[in-house]
Amino acid sequence: MSGVSDRNAAWRQQLRRDMPGKERTSIERVRMPEVDPVERIKSQRIEVNKGLTPKMAVLEAKRCMDCINPTCMEGCPVKIDIPGFVKNIERGEFLQAAVILKNTSALPAVCGRVCPQEKQCESKCFYIQKLDKQPVAIGYLERFAADYERESGRVSVPEVAPANGIKMAVIGSGPSGLSCAGDLAKKGYDVTVFEALHEIGGVLKYGIPEFRLPNRVVDAEIDSLKKMGVKFVTNFIVGMTDSMEDLKSEGFKGFYVASGAGLPRFMNIPGENYNGILSSNEYLTRVNLMGADSEESDTPVYHGKRVVVVGGGNTAMDSVRTAKRLGAERATIVYRRSEEEMPARIEEVKHAKEEGCEFMTLTNPVEYIADENRRVKQVKVQKMALGEPDASGRRSPVPVPGSEYLIDADVVVVAVGVSPNPIIPRSVEGLNISSKGTIIVDEKTMESNIPGLFAGGDIVRGGATVILAMGDGRRAAEYMSERLTTERI
Ligand SMILES: Cc1cc2nc3c(=O)[nH]c(=O)nc-3n(C[C@H](O)[C@H](O)[C@H](O)COP(=O)(O)OP(=O)(O)OC[C@H]3O[C@@H](n4cnc5c(N)ncnc54)[C@H](O)[C@@H]3O)c2cc1C
Repeated sequence: MSGVSDRNAAWRQQLRRDMPGKERTSIERVRMPEVDPVERIKSQRIEVNKGLTPKMAVLEAKRCMDCINPTCMEGCPVKIDIPGFVKNIERGEFLQAAVILKNTSALPAVCGRVCPQEKQCESKCFYIQKLDKQPVAIGYLERFAADYERESGRVSVPEVAPANGIKMAVIGSGPSGLSCAGDLAKKGYDVTVFEALHEIGGVLKYGIPEFRLPNRVVDAEIDSLKKMGVKFVTNFIVGMTDSMEDLKSEGFKGFYVASGAGLPRFMNIPGENYNGILSSNEYLTRVNLMGADSEESDTPVYHGKRVVVVGGGNTAMDSVRTAKRLGAERATIVYRRSEEEMPARIEEVKHAKEEGCEFMTLTNPVEYIADENRRVKQVKVQKMALGEPDASGRRSPVPVPGSEYLIDADVVVVAVGVSPNPIIPRSVEGLNISSKGTIIVDEKTMESNIPGLFAGGDIVRGGATVILAMGDGRRAAEYMSERLTTERI
C-alpha cells in the first residue's frame, strides 16, 4: 500500500476527527447529473451521464466511513483500495485518488461507467450492510477521479519494473487482455497484445455504445498502457494469421488468451432467418465500429420504425436504446422473465425507460412472420409465468398455453446471450475445452492444461462482466510471472 493511501496516515485520522460518523451518515447519496432524455436520444454519441462536479464528489466522499475492515473491497474483483481513493477525493487530492485507482485497475474510467457496482463493491458497503441506506456511490467517485485526471492533462503512468526482455503474448484486447497486459508490463515483461479487429478494446468498443462509454475514454486508458510499453498488433487473428506455435517460435514465453465470447446465440425458432432479424452483436458492432447508423455509410443498418429486442441483459438494453436513437417510433424489450430477474444494470433499465423504450416482460417470441419479400413484419409471442428457481437461481419462465399473440416489427434484434469465440479453442491441439466451448483453467492460477497457456474473461466464463474479466487478467499475470520465474515455462 502506498504511503498516501496508508490508512494510518495522519491526514486520514484528521478526516475522521473532523467529521464524526453521525454527520457522515446524514448526507444524502449524490445523484448523477444526466442529459435530458429528449436531447440525448438525438445522437448515439451523446453520453447520458454527465459525471459529478468536484463539489458533489467531495460531498459524496464524506459519506464514506473509512471502515476499519472495508467490506466494499471484498466486492471488487480487482481489489481496488476503495477507501484509499475515496478519502483522497474527500481531501481534494483528486489526482492522487486516480493514482491509487491505477495501482490495481488499468481501466478506472471504464469501470466507473459500466461496472454493475450495485452487485459488487456497493452491495458490500457499510451503509447497505448495517444501516439499510443507499451505499456510497463508489462507481460515480471512481469515474470522477479518472475523468478529473484525464481532463486535467496530468495523467500519471503507473511505474514499470526494469525491462527483463521476456516476451509475453496477450490474445484479445478486451478488458481482460488489457488488464493482464498492464500488470505484466508493470512487472517488466515485453508485452504484445494481438487483436483480431482493427480497433483495440473488445466489447468496450464494438459492443457498449458511446452514449454509455465514449471511445475517447477507452482510448485514453489504452494510451496509458502504450506509455507503459505495451505493444498492440491489430487485424491479427491468432489461430489464423499465425498460430500460437508460430508465436512461440518468435520467442513468446507465456500466453494469455482473452478472446472473449463474441459468437451470437439465436433461439432457433421458426422464421429466425427472415430479413430484418439480426443478432445484437451484428447490430451493435455495425453501429459502434462501422458507423452504420449514418445514412451515408456504405453499409447502413436498417432504421426500423417498430423494433423488437429480445433479451433482458445489458446487450438488450444497449440495442433497444440504440434503436431509439436511430429513430424507432416504438422500441420494445421482449423478455421471458420479470423485470426483477433482468441481468441488466439497474441504471440501464432506468435510462431505457426514460428514453421511451417499452418493456414486455414475461413474454417470449415463438415464431416470426414475414411479408412476401421475406422481411419480418410480425413476432408471435407467448405469455410466460414464473416457476421454480433454475440453475441461475432465478425463477424459471414457464410458457402459458394458448396465450400467443402477434406484435408488429420491422427489425428484430436477438440479444439472448453469447458463446465463446471458437478460433483459439479449435486451433490449439490438446487444449481442454468445456461442452460450452469455454477454455477450462485452474480457477486460482488461470492456467489451462497446456503449461504456459493461461486464459480468462469471457472465453473462460462464457459471458460475464468487465470487472470479472479484468480480475482474471490480473490473477493470470501474477501466476504467469510466478511460473516463469520459478519453473521457466
Ligand atoms: C453490448 C454489451 C454490453 C455490455 N455491457 C456491460 C456492462 O455494462 N458492464 C459489464 O460489466 N459488462 C458488460 N458487458 C460484458 C462485458 O463487456 C464482457 O464480459 C467483457 O468485455 C469480457 O471481456 P474479455 O476481455 O474477456 O472479452 P472481449 O471484450 O470480448 O474481448 C475479446 C477480444 O478478443 C478478440 N479476439 C477474439 N479472438 C481472437 C483471436 N483469435 N485473435 C486475436 N484476437 C481475438 C476480439 O476481437 C475481442 O476484441 C457487455 C457486453 C456486451 C456485448
